[in-house]
Amino acid sequence: MKVPFVSFLPMERELKSEIKGAFERVLERSWYIEGAEDESFEKAFADYIGAKYCVGVGNGLDALVMALKALDIGSGDEVIVPANTFIASVLAISYAGATPVLVDPEADTFNIDPEKIEAAVTDRTKAIIPVHLYGQACKMDRIVEIAEKYDLKIIEDCAQAHGATYKGKTTGTFGDAAGYSFYPGKNLGALGDAGAVVTDNEALEKKIRALGNYGSDYKYHHIYKGNNSRLDEMQAAFLSAKLPILEKMNDERRRVAQRYLTEIKNPAVVLPYVNEDCVHVWHVFAVKCDRRDELEEYLNSRGIGTNKHYPTPVHLQECYKDLGYKEGDFPVAEEISRTELSLPMYYGMTDEEIDYVIESINRF
Ligand SMILES: *Cc1c(COP(=O)(O)O)cnc(C)c1O
Repeated sequence: MKVPFVSFLPMERELKSEIKGAFERVLERSWYIEGAEDESFEKAFADYIGAKYCVGVGNGLDALVMALKALDIGSGDEVIVPANTFIASVLAISYAGATPVLVDPEADTFNIDPEKIEAAVTDRTKAIIPVHLYGQACKMDRIVEIAEKYDLKIIEDCAQAHGATYKGKTTGTFGDAAGYSFYPGKNLGALGDAGAVVTDNEALEKKIRALGNYGSDYKYHHIYKGNNSRLDEMQAAFLSAKLPILEKMNDERRRVAQRYLTEIKNPAVVLPYVNEDCVHVWHVFAVKCDRRDELEEYLNSRGIGTNKHYPTPVHLQECYKDLGYKEGDFPVAEEISRTELSLPMYYGMTDEEIDYVIESINRF
């Protein structure tokens, strides 16, 4: 039996006519950038998150860069970000011209440790980027408290957390702005690259929209040195076809996760911790194992796809040598990079596939 790490096929089979309909609608309208599809998806996504505004952009990295720039964060400023995240959370800070300051995550939730944030604050700190990693929210009440104390902006990285909640409140609504990615493998994915920023701040919404459109507030009138990062009509239409089943897809991920959590019984495998304050959306089902590479090889040899999120922590990446960090600086992030293994998780996984993964791990 083969179980891929991720498959889009069950979703695509279910939504085939909606996706084709979206394609035909855009083709017939013959209008591809900045149009009715973008506008209607932005409205629907803002409503879903419970934010006032949504601006569709080219991808999740741009979403974070543009949110930082719109908040006037740049050269000479520092931004706090977890040491255990996908590199884009950190690259965004660099692209905005600011300096990333890393903070070690918690060993159980994998998310930024709020108790270690204050030690990283300096008089140049302007913002915190909490990353709701693997689909589980950060401890936002503490993070909001610290941000208020030091007058810091919060830009949530929601690229892995579409629909996740913390104490009943949807992630993406805790800070000044939040960045989303609709990369195909995310919980809500386009059929290509796409992203969005959500915010409740009208001035910020206008600025982000202008920044992604060559810095123009109206045609051929440029108030910022912007870039080109917009959500195109085709991707917006595909996203509108998928958004109505996002909750159902997240429920299904929770069902798979629940089976893994209750039926994987191997003392060598540490299951992910679920914070009771959170509704987890399981972008990634991350286990820890001291013999991680051996477990991975074993599962792969049985036809089970796996992944590592992430094998090299940010501070040990070649591109960030200039930050001056060294091995040992973020022991929790380093431990996660050595022991974390991600199991198959996607909408439409069959019971047989889930059984096979569980049985295989229990036999390891
Ligand atoms: C995917 C991802 C991004 C970047 O999104 P793209 O659309 O791929 O640019 C940013 N942050 C995190 C945590 C991600 O997982």
